[in-house]
Amino acid sequence: MKTLKRIAAGILSTALLLGMTSCAAKETETSADANVDAAAAFTTVESGKLIMATNAFFPPYEYYEGDKIVGIDVEIATAVADKLGLELVIEDVEFDSIIAGVQSGKYDIGCAGMTVTEDRLKSVNFSTPYATGIQSIIVAADSEITDIDTLVSGDYKVGVQSGTTGDIYMTEEVGEERIERFAKGNDAIIALTSGKISAVVIDNEPAKAFVAANDGLKILETPYTVEDYAMAINKDNEALKDAINQALKELTDDGTIAAIINKYIPAEG
Ligand code: GLN
Repeated sequence: MKTLKRIAAGILSTALLLGMTSCAAKETETSADANVDAAAAFTTVESGKLIMATNAFFPPYEYYEGDKIVGIDVEIATAVADKLGLELVIEDVEFDSIIAGVQSGKYDIGCAGMTVTEDRLKSVNFSTPYATGIQSIIVAADSEITDIDTLVSGDYKVGVQSGTTGDIYMTEEVGEERIERFAKGNDAIIALTSGKISAVVIDNEPAKAFVAANDGLKILETPYTVEDYAMAINKDNEALKDAINQALKELTDDGTIAAIINKYIPAEG
């Protein structure tokens, strides 16, 4: 793939050197074509398909509308698949099995509001980030917990979604005995509303959706961390990563990604 890209770039500069002059727009087109040709070298798990692993309980990035999975990640991955001439196939699996499945070659991409971390980069490649997330703290509306410090210093039980960055950070902060892990964010919310745990640490957008859907909860006004979301891709498939990054670049440049995100997360203020 790298070689192909270099060749493609070589062809482009030779063409320019030969004085194949044209208007700027046409040159842009030539270079885009060169990239598409280079991108054609990637392979996927199943020919003609882009298999995406996600955990569809993470609104507004992925969630069920009836029996259909919709959301920001679904629309961005569909747009990427379209650019690559592939059909998007979605597999709804446990969040903490996604990286292993991408690594073992079961899925082409993990696309699940997934944060880029140093640790995950040891197992998979990540695309260019396409969104950001914040870890938020949800508590009961009348909770005495006011911020991360009161949460950590008290003897509170904290709910997290298993294998997420919320899980990783909070396990470090409060220790194993005070962590309750759930397969789905919403299961943690149910435990919080029934008083089994005192807080849930989860990404801000699902946090907002869960709080809106359940009475008596609030999000603390102290954002905990800011993170980049990107697609996880098998380390041996550099060509697919390059093709996806090229597609993401085009979709960023033409405003498609911003429009998808705005549709689900209307700008505040
Ligand atoms: N952004 C968090 C992570 O990557 C949570 C993602 C999720 O639960 N889908 O760990």
